[in-house]
Amino acid sequence: MTFDDTPEEAAFRTELRAWLDANAPKDLEAELRQSTFGMFALKSVDPMTASKDWQRTKFDAGWACLHWPKAYGGRAATPIQRVIWQEEEGPYATLSGLFSIGHNMCGPTLMAWADDTQKSARLPALAKGEEIWCQLFSEPAGGSDLAGLRTSAEKDHDGWRINGQKVWTSRAHHSDYGLLLARTDPTVAKHKGLTMFFLDMRSAGVEIRPIKQANGGATFNEVYFTDVHIPDSQRLGGVGQGWQVSMTTLMNERMSMGSKMSIGFAELFDFCRDLDLDGRPALDDRAVRSRLASFAVRASGLKYTALRAISAISKGQNPGPENSIGKLVGASAMQELAMYALDLQGQAGILEDPALAPLAARFQTMLLRTPATRIEGGTDEILRNIIAERVLGLPSELRVDKNVPFNAIPTRPAGDN
Ligand SMILES: Cc1cc2nc3c(=O)[nH]c(=O)nc-3n(C[C@H](O)[C@H](O)[C@H](O)COP(=O)(O)OP(=O)(O)OC[C@H]3O[C@@H](n4cnc5c(N)ncnc54)[C@H](O)[C@@H]3O)c2cc1C
Repeated sequence: MTFDDTPEEAAFRTELRAWLDANAPKDLEAELRQSTFGMFALKSVDPMTASKDWQRTKFDAGWACLHWPKAYGGRAATPIQRVIWQEEEGPYATLSGLFSIGHNMCGPTLMAWADDTQKSARLPALAKGEEIWCQLFSEPAGGSDLAGLRTSAEKDHDGWRINGQKVWTSRAHHSDYGLLLARTDPTVAKHKGLTMFFLDMRSAGVEIRPIKQANGGATFNEVYFTDVHIPDSQRLGGVGQGWQVSMTTLMNERMSMGSKMSIGFAELFDFCRDLDLDGRPALDDRAVRSRLASFAVRASGLKYTALRAISAISKGQNPGPENSIGKLVGASAMQELAMYALDLQGQAGILEDPALAPLAARFQTMLLRTPATRIEGGTDEILRNIIAERVLGLPSELRVDKNVPFNAIPTRPAGDN
């Protein structure tokens, strides 16, 4: 396998470099370069406006949602062209975070399951950055065991009445729409009684409560539904087909997370290059070099595993469960790397104020975000189960409630601790 650009890829890279050079918001570049995993360091302008402006600029020039069909506002680019875009967009990619759930998960789900009227109404608005979408899947009783969710959708003349609660809903507080998985039939087995909808987040009866995080941010929320009405035209897939629809979303989620996971090696290397340890450059220290080598090996393993997956997709294969490897290895490597950077900072490692801490608390913020990375989109244990069962073919874990009607699964009575 060669990793050099083909002549067509080189031409694509040249074209997009020229476009970025002429159109990227360079006045924000220095600030965006300060952003790190878990911290969006834009202070001089409103981050929402800057993100929407950049998305609109890309859309108008045909550089939005590269992997989407042109009919919906994308570019119909190849998976390799998408990788080239990600390599070249650099710090400006931070401005796309607001749209990542919509573009990488909700949009592809709509493409696969919505009717033509819904697709043409919603997808171009998503590509332009006019709409922000969130994923309303997880609940207190339905996280890893997503099919255990309890939010109900009951038939209500021309539509559905929703009651229940979601949790950990990233960016719900900014969202216009959410992809909602709800239980429409509690009398059948848990995977079979689910239906998918998309919900206008400004509907009456929707209450959004932000959750304050350890790193000071508040990017996710609890979302409560009290008699929320959803028209039947906003159902995706058949009644009872929600599990299959959710698989489209989750497959795209793991693909998008695993394929571009950076563990922060370049940032750590830069930090070590400027660091003095006991009066000598840190890079001369054998122990430092050994740890750097260990991170470098994992960073390249992840890079080439992601490229292998992308190469398989470009040959027409579907993203498979092996994409779980990138997220599993990357998230824990990132956590270990951030911890090591703090060790190297000595006592300053405990500072968390960006005005006082080395490198504006870059690694501190990263360390505080990494536990969430090991949970979101599938915890380490769930990813290991997927790899064991679906990649290695090991026996599957016992799922005793799999074929039991949902309302017959024993639960602990309320208040019984
Ligand atoms: C940063 C972040 C953003 C998120 N954004 C969203 C979002 O936008 N929308 C959304 O719907 N959800 C979102 N989530 C929720 C996320 O999908 C869930 O947190 C995740 O699926 C785990 O579910 P849980 O938190 O209920 O943990 P649980 O499922 O209760 O798990 C608790 C522990 O038990 C372990 N465990 C559970 N089952 C098994 C098993 N079968 N075998 C072995 N171990 C097991 C888990 O690994 C974990 O350690 C987000 C989460 C985070 C951290």
